[in-house]
Amino acid sequence: MSIFEVRHQRWAQVILQSAIGGDRIPHAYLFHGPDGIGKETLARAYAQLLLCEKPVCHNECSSEYAPDGKQWFDSCGLCSSCRLMETDSHPDYHLIHRRLIRFHDDPSVRARKGLDLGIDVIRQFVLDAAHKKPALGSRKVFVLRETEKLTSAAQNALLKTLEEPPPGTFLILICRALDSLLPTTRSRCRSIPFSPLPISFVHETLQGRHSDINADLIRFAAALGEGSLGRSVQCLENGLNEINRNVITPLKDLSVLSALEWAHLLEDQADQLAHRSRLGDEEINETDAVRQALTQILTLVATFYDDVLKLTHGQQERCCNTADLEIVRQAGSRMKHDWIPRSIGWTVQAEAQIHLNANTTLCLENLAMRLAHLYAPSR
Ligand SMILES: [Zn+2]
Repeated sequence: MSIFEVRHQRWAQVILQSAIGGDRIPHAYLFHGPDGIGKETLARAYAQLLLCEKPVCHNECSSEYAPDGKQWFDSCGLCSSCRLMETDSHPDYHLIHRRLIRFHDDPSVRARKGLDLGIDVIRQFVLDAAHKKPALGSRKVFVLRETEKLTSAAQNALLKTLEEPPPGTFLILICRALDSLLPTTRSRCRSIPFSPLPISFVHETLQGRHSDINADLIRFAAALGEGSLGRSVQCLENGLNEINRNVITPLKDLSVLSALEWAHLLEDQADQLAHRSRLGDEEINETDAVRQALTQILTLVATFYDDVLKLTHGQQERCCNTADLEIVRQAGSRMKHDWIPRSIGWTVQAEAQIHLNANTTLCLENLAMRLAHLYAPSR
């Protein structure tokens, strides 16, 4: 793919292009930022450019990357190397991830679960592979996915290669947050920050890909992704809208009597969501998956009360729950307006507690009881 197909990451593009244009290509980059915003896509497109036999040089570029008289480089898309990249079969492009443990030479290592990106995978698939000659040209590129899951031992084993890789070897580490890596690893890589995508772009992309899905649902997924196309796609794939409706419907009129029932409903919905998101990746620990699902569900709750607040301020067009505005309206009519921000604060607080491994049932029950007191009692 053309490197310019990766949109809205101008800063990253400028850094990469300046290095190529200046002929000072760093051998280790660290791409960091939230999931689903183009880090791995750009890493792959950049790898294609590094491996391309006849890279092309543009003096002008699309307006988004207006080059100020600079030259911009891209892969040709035509050479045998580019064609191998397009068919996902380039022998010198190495995508490294924790699930490679299943393909390890040692059967006792293969028997383990790939919860982390451990030293065995790094040794065989990066260190040993980096010391072999490239199969085609003179370069090899390693893209390491989810490096926040690298163990300390694996990071220590990588240090020498990051510092001084074999000639023609390039590494791109991808992670969510810089501080998830050891300082010694970070200091050996050139860091490039990635920013969330504009929500309008996520919205347009989803519309283009899913013309069969209704507009409310697309809008909901785009808003909930908070600038991550990957997260928005997951919302659609995991049926988060259906879970959202189950979670928010009782919130139109929560009472002390119905609060605990609602708290248990959240746990039940989290189990369902965790099951859906674990499909195809049984290496995710079940308890972690449920906690992750619960934090997602609490985001739905916070988004709902945020919509209640917006609606009471007459900002209907900014609401996420456009398909369920009646539920939002009913909740707004039952709650004291000054109290609505408290509901958002408490929900975010519960989300943080669950993230820090608090007792989930207790946390949800407390939240439900506190929220119930924000509604006027039924007559
Ligand atoms: Zn090419």
